[in-house]
Amino acid sequence: MKKHNFGAGPCILPQDVFKKASDAVLDFNGLSILEVSHRSKDYEAVMHEARELVKKALNISDDYEVLYLQGGATLGFTIAALNMMRSTKKAGYINTGTWASGAIKEAKKVGVDVNVFGSSEDKNFSYIPKNLVVPTDADYIHFTSNNTIFGTQFKEFPKTDLPLVCDMSSDIFSKEVNVSDFDLIYAGAQKNLGPAGATLYIVKKDVLGKSTSAFMPSYLDLKQHADKDSMYNTPPVFSVYVAMLNLQDLLANGGVPKMALKNQAKAKLIYSEIDSNPLFKGSAAVEDRSEMNVNFLLTNDALKDEFDAAWKAAGIIGLNGHRSVGGYRASMYNALELDSVQVLVDVMNDFSKKHG
Ligand code: PMP
Repeated sequence: MKKHNFGAGPCILPQDVFKKASDAVLDFNGLSILEVSHRSKDYEAVMHEARELVKKALNISDDYEVLYLQGGATLGFTIAALNMMRSTKKAGYINTGTWASGAIKEAKKVGVDVNVFGSSEDKNFSYIPKNLVVPTDADYIHFTSNNTIFGTQFKEFPKTDLPLVCDMSSDIFSKEVNVSDFDLIYAGAQKNLGPAGATLYIVKKDVLGKSTSAFMPSYLDLKQHADKDSMYNTPPVFSVYVAMLNLQDLLANGGVPKMALKNQAKAKLIYSEIDSNPLFKGSAAVEDRSEMNVNFLLTNDALKDEFDAAWKAAGIIGLNGHRSVGGYRASMYNALELDSVQVLVDVMNDFSKKHG
């Protein structure tokens, strides 16, 4: 039986994408996709299409470069800071959780004077800070659009005239975004894009080659990658191939606008259950709740073992909350179907009937 995968990432992708990816492991124009040279014509076409489809899916203009690198969003923290550093060497960051804190830490390491002008650390990152005064004397502003661990998501992005940088690892392609509001977006592939191994960068061409950092290893310089059509060195070949398949699938099925409706429907279904079922409560502020990662707790901890047994018996996996938060986290990335959310909701509902 195929499991209902609520894991936070790497995560579920469409079944058809898994099928095509596995076909290509055995036969990609007579070779395996795993043995093909990244300099071959066939693979160059894959890289080209994987970049173009990102532009198509998010309506990105030719003012931007789309790049696939390695190193995960974790290296993205450093790459963002190094590439966006300008004359002030200052930057404004919003601290909304573990990953935002990581971005702050790495920016400091490469010499950015970080001004954390908003934080929700006082309440264990259970909300998105509001009414912030965004600094004006900085090279750029950085935030994390969706907080994978704490289950909060920005519904409105910070307003600034400064270059805006965003870690969109866990909600990119889940809803429409106006890419032209950003100078740099980065995202690990392993949620809504493809398998782990590739990291997506969407960078305004204007940004490239303008860093004031004295320290700039070639690999971390986005200009080097852009100049070489994202083939500066061996790219994460298979991960990019599967990202291409997944983007083809997304676009063939109504694209990001259709996906956004599906994600809204899933979120509505599970949050309504959490709010109406006395055995459960949400842990994130209601207005900041994430559509991708739904955090909730049992109101009676004594029922934990029994509840865990119930969802496991229904074929659900990956529901345990992150170790820093506890409770449960239902990650509902693009490929998770409404039917799988219904299975979880039915388990919760039956559980409350039994204990009500
Ligand atoms: N940022 C966010 C929002 C994440 O969810 C994650 C990982 N889940 C990271 C950064 C770190 O990504 P990686 O493991 O790809 O380095």
